[in-house]
Amino acid sequence: MNVKYTKGAFERAESDLRERREKAQTERSEHLEEVARNAPEIYRMYNDSVALNYELMECIGLQAGKEDARQRIQEIRQKSKMLRDAMHVMLDSCGYPTDYLQYHYQCEKCSDTGYHDGIRCECMKNLLEKYTTEDINRSCSIELHDFSEFVPEVYSEELMNGISPRKRMTGIFNDCKSYAENFSVNSPSLFFFGKTGLGKTFLSSCIAKKLIEDGHNVVYSSLVRLLPQIEDERFHRSDGDTMSILRDAELVILDDLGSEFQKQFTDSVIYEILNERINTGRPTIISTNLTTKELDKKYNDRIVSRLTGCFMPVMFIGNDVRQEKRRLSLL
Ligand SMILES: [Zn+2]
Repeated sequence: MNVKYTKGAFERAESDLRERREKAQTERSEHLEEVARNAPEIYRMYNDSVALNYELMECIGLQAGKEDARQRIQEIRQKSKMLRDAMHVMLDSCGYPTDYLQYHYQCEKCSDTGYHDGIRCECMKNLLEKYTTEDINRSCSIELHDFSEFVPEVYSEELMNGISPRKRMTGIFNDCKSYAENFSVNSPSLFFFGKTGLGKTFLSSCIAKKLIEDGHNVVYSSLVRLLPQIEDERFHRSDGDTMSILRDAELVILDDLGSEFQKQFTDSVIYEILNERINTGRPTIISTNLTTKELDKKYNDRIVSRLTGCFMPVMFIGNDVRQEKRRLSLL
């Protein structure tokens, strides 16, 4: 079985948790020192309560089962509770929160250790997922861009089939921006198509950047680089389980469908990704330079019907903007 998370993700997650624990410990030491300085009476109560705890542990450990020990344990517990209650009243009257001398962990469930009751805690899983996604994005990524880089002037105003490319592309830009701003896992899947150099990769990367900044779990990747990685994992040439990361991500952006080296394996993986995402109701954005005709010719019906049936088509029009961009930058 493949390991779902990368080795780097484990290292980073553990280091994050260590930092969180250290932070909680430092904060508590500071609180203790502060109370020792400003309210020595409370500090004494605190020390008494620690001493009681030790005594309790000793009793439980050494004399378990004996009748007199049970009684003693009961007594210590009562005493300890009274002391704690009194301490809370004192803390409150001195203007401190009643839990001021307790550890404040980010995750109360596992005290920032990453495990509770012998199983991996949700907080650790979230970190592992986040860092594994980052690793995948790094190894298969497309460059990220920002919506502020959009220049409508690179698109011509001259009508093409009765439509102004600039008007159409400005509309698509606004739609993409609002898609990113209002994103949820119920957002629709999008299918960007049109000739090369019209900004499909640019706009999908803008969406990725905005969502990542907002803390969403997004995989953005070019299929050319992603598919060989999945193949290596399938045939045990490398560790990892990219497929399960693709299944669980809030949004998956797959760039440049049709540019991959096509074989039966890649087709079945593309189908599997699309199908799993559709079945779990999670959105995907796919871009391609292929025309619908080419798409039909290149892929089997199963893939084409998923794309046409479950994705919202977004048609990019105009002439290659890279030339126009160069011209504008020379002006
Ligand atoms: Zn936890």
